Amino acid sequence: MELWVGTTNKGKLSEFKLLLEKGLPEFEIKTLQDLPSYTQPPENGKTFLENARIKAKSLKAMRQNVWSFAEDSGLEVEELGGLPGIHSARYAGPHARDSENLAKLLKMMQIKGCPTRKARFLCTMVAFDPAGNEHILYGELPGTIGKAPIGQMGFGYDPVFVPETQTKTLAELGPGFKSLNSHRAKATLQLIELIKSK
Ligand code: IMP
Repeated sequence: MELWVGTTNKGKLSEFKLLLEKGLPEFEIKTLQDLPSYTQPPENGKTFLENARIKAKSLKAMRQNVWSFAEDSGLEVEELGGLPGIHSARYAGPHARDSENLAKLLKMMQIKGCPTRKARFLCTMVAFDPAGNEHILYGELPGTIGKAPIGQMGFGYDPVFVPETQTKTLAELGPGFKSLNSHRAKATLQLIELIKSK
């Protein structure tokens, strides 16, 4: 049986593969790289759920009668009113690199003063089962934003995000921590349980 993953983000893909290959060894994990004719739909939803659904539906349109899913995730900073939120991937501009998004985040927090640095990562996942039914799964990771990037692992905002109960950033803690505790891991582990239960 195939399980299709709707992302082109390399950081997300390696996290998904780690969890799915371990949790669902009987499944063949397929990605958008296995669909050369796939064109990414515009992510013009107003919420994580809307964007996850847009991505999941576009993948489902290409592959039916299998499990498939996509997710939308991002970072919400309390003192920035929840920004960058659904704009996390493009915070510094449409084709911004992770380092540019991260630099903009630190700059905005410096401009605003930000007495507290509370933040959370959110992941909303939309999956379709082989019969075409939709399933929604969520994951959250609370923490704080550091003052400067530290660590080499991971992607995106990992070098500035310190999870609650930890003193190191996600970029220092690495895949061992993320595969058990991240917003994406929490949603993915629920998906694994859901698939196993069917
Ligand atoms: P999406 O691909 O539109 O869902 O954008 C997700 C963006 O949110 C990524 O490009 C990162 O900037 C950020 N993000 C989501 N999850 C993580 C994570 O686990 N670590 C660091 N940044 C993340």
